[in-house]
Amino acid sequence: MKKFKFLSLVMILIILLTAGCSKISNEDAQNTSFENLSEEKIKFVTSFYPIYIMMLNITDGASGVEVVNMSETHTGCLHDFQIQPEDLKNIETSTAFIINGAGMEPFVEKILQENPNIKIVDSSKGIELILSDGHENHSHEEEEEEDHHHEYNPHIWVSISNYIQQIENITDEIINLDPNNADIYELNCNTYIKNLEQLSSQMHEKIDNLPNKNIVTFHEAFPYFAKEFSLNVVGVINQNPHSKPSAKEIADTINKIKQNNVKALFVEPQYLDNLAENIASETNSQIFVLDPAVTGDKSKDCYINTMRKNMQTLVEALSHS
Ligand SMILES: [Zn+2]
Repeated sequence: MKKFKFLSLVMILIILLTAGCSKISNEDAQNTSFENLSEEKIKFVTSFYPIYIMMLNITDGASGVEVVNMSETHTGCLHDFQIQPEDLKNIETSTAFIINGAGMEPFVEKILQENPNIKIVDSSKGIELILSDGHENHSHEEEEEEDHHHEYNPHIWVSISNYIQQIENITDEIINLDPNNADIYELNCNTYIKNLEQLSSQMHEKIDNLPNKNIVTFHEAFPYFAKEFSLNVVGVINQNPHSKPSAKEIADTINKIKQNNVKALFVEPQYLDNLAENIASETNSQIFVLDPAVTGDKSKDCYINTMRKNMQTLVEALSHS
């Protein structure tokens, strides 16, 4: 709390200082303020990998900015993530905590209750959410009883158009939080989006007309991706990432695969196990790896590279009806 008061005091000082330096050009003023502030950097903390990669791109070359990924040692989605004291410390000392939203970070409400000064940037704003499987048939009362966050599927970034929307949402907000770097954020945002749009149209070209678009995936990471490329997810092998599917669920999946002439099972590099192999041999289908881009080499281009690989996999898997 003290840190925040101190930070806002510093911010006010900067505003006063830069406002007083009207003879110095804008650029000089920026440099001066950052030199004085070398110990009080702008720090953005991201909740998990895809958001971290977005931020690497948006903030590339921005001066005095640090991007820290909270769940650094945690692999994959945040479904079974337990927030640690050092994560909280990171968030509390940040300029903003940048999250996926859509229920991927259910712990955020509690953090805000304990520390309402934390600035949260929710990248999911305005994105049309898809209900989680298994929630469609619930009565209204049943839904009320459940944690509201879990009714929607949180894997929004796996759709390229959602990913672009998330980048725009984040850029809009961090420009207000760090106006000194506004120009570079905007430039980076535009460049990255241009590359993503190019990727998207290339993917549509390759995927839209594939003859067999029925697929089965491992966990519920692909509904947004499937919607974007008109793929039909006829089954999900492991609906709940917290537990193994029951014998009945496995039997249901096998039936769906047979009924829908599914030739390709898609597993994820983050969740490999032999269940998919058993199902594949039982149904004469083949296993391919589709990557929801939640892990990687932490390079700026890894989302684009992962999606390009997914495109090649889909072409290979679905070219024969
Ligand atoms: Zn997930």
